[in-house]
Amino acid sequence: MVSRVIPVEPFDLVIFGGTGDLARRKILPGLYRRFCSGQMGEDSRVIGAARAEMDAEGYRQFVREAIDEFDAGRTCEVGTIDAFLKRLDYVTVDALGKDGWPDLAKLMGEGTGRVRAYYFSVAPSLFGALAERLHTYGIADEDARIVVEKPFGRDEASACALNGVLAEHFDESQIYRIDHYLGKETVQNLMAVRFGNMLFEPLWNSQYVDHIQITVAETVGVGGRGEYYDKSGAMRDMMQNHLMQLLCLIAMEPPAKFDPDAVRDEKLKVIRALDEVEPRDIVRGQYEAEGDKPDYRTHVENPESTTESFIAMKVHLSNWRWAGTPFYLRTGKRLRARTSEIAVVFKETPHSIFGPEAGRHRNILTIRLQPNEGMDLGVTIKEPGPGGMRLVDVPLDMTFADALGPDAEDVPDAYERLIMDVIRGNQTLFMRGDEVEAAWAWTDPIIAGWEKRGDKPEPYESGSSGPEDALALMHRDGRRWREIRI
Ligand code: NAP
Repeated sequence: MVSRVIPVEPFDLVIFGGTGDLARRKILPGLYRRFCSGQMGEDSRVIGAARAEMDAEGYRQFVREAIDEFDAGRTCEVGTIDAFLKRLDYVTVDALGKDGWPDLAKLMGEGTGRVRAYYFSVAPSLFGALAERLHTYGIADEDARIVVEKPFGRDEASACALNGVLAEHFDESQIYRIDHYLGKETVQNLMAVRFGNMLFEPLWNSQYVDHIQITVAETVGVGGRGEYYDKSGAMRDMMQNHLMQLLCLIAMEPPAKFDPDAVRDEKLKVIRALDEVEPRDIVRGQYEAEGDKPDYRTHVENPESTTESFIAMKVHLSNWRWAGTPFYLRTGKRLRARTSEIAVVFKETPHSIFGPEAGRHRNILTIRLQPNEGMDLGVTIKEPGPGGMRLVDVPLDMTFADALGPDAEDVPDAYERLIMDVIRGNQTLFMRGDEVEAAWAWTDPIIAGWEKRGDKPEPYESGSSGPEDALALMHRDGRRWREIRI
């Protein structure tokens, strides 16, 4: 299979927060890879912007080190890194002051006629100031784009306020709210599988689907983000955005076309169809210590913390397609394996023509987001050999790397893809303002409920599948979670 990289048009991308962790780990190495692939051309520029005093040469050195550290193992032609670094510049700028803005305006003036994108890789409290100054200094016309990172608010009110601040200077069509889960190859494949095949869509409803499980499990703890995480927890940090977005793509009606607003309209309808969640259908947990690794409360330096590092929920959608089909969602830290997957568990065959001993079987379609991106469909076949009709469930496995060969290894990671989408002006994989607000409107009463009841998270063993009650959440319904494994 021949890789088809279509170069994007020339652009100037300014990264506010160009010296920060996200820029170093994801944005800059991602841009470098797109440069290596030929998608970003030699006529585009990347401009780092932050308060640190540095000249362009200093920034290039900073970026070279970031690429060395975070892009190890990738192969690019010799000399590509130098060509990429030549495309970089840096401006010392204070989002909250006047310093540096005329310099940035001058630099941008040299790039007229290109796509202009501004990546707000800074704290959300700076979004308003940045949006306002981009206009004051005349460097954001109606074609300019801004990219904003999560967290997008911490409740409905703050999300509405942020949307309001951005809307003062930018149209919704210019705002790209990143949820990097949407940039994952498999997530897009989910849409391809659902809407590019005849096989699945007729069965994709409560008549044939018993339940759906979405798991996003991490092995790491809260790392260096303890202070932030303790104010947020798994519900705000993962469930409200990443898992909710996956749920939307699994559950949405077919959009009339693969067009940003058509897709986002359908996702919004899913969020609005979500029922309130009963307290008994929510399990929250906190990880315990393991060896020399501290427990959650020690990690976040808050001995009284009631923030969850794990959450599992059973949710229902009140709509024609899904009424009666539960969706079980779980996400947490310090779990047994790092894995993200969606399992569509179909109903059992209604009757076994092979007799009671052959049992009744069900198909399970598993979509793996990481690791080993791919999907498998569990089907029932005859066990080979003599002994009559003994049935066995086997996976029809398609790991993308095996099925697609070298092309699959060279797929852009989520950030690379999403940044290129910004340049192409394609908002399909970005959250719209009303989607984010609706997701918070569903989340807020759930959080308010457990705060009011004074619910405490259940401790769980590090390296396990989460709290016992999370297992019970499914056992009670006669179902069980899929094993968390690589
Ligand atoms: P960070 O490491 O703290 O970096 C913050 C950046 O903002 C630095 O470059 C800093 O440089 C710059 N900055 C701070 N105040 C500024 C000001 N007044 N004017 C101009 N620049 C200023 O943060 P980060 O981890 O990169 O995160 C950036 C954003 O992405 C945050 O909203 C975060 O929640 C979000 N995010 C991060 C990750 C991640 O993996 N890191 C993942 C998802 C979302 P100076 O101090 O030199 O100005």
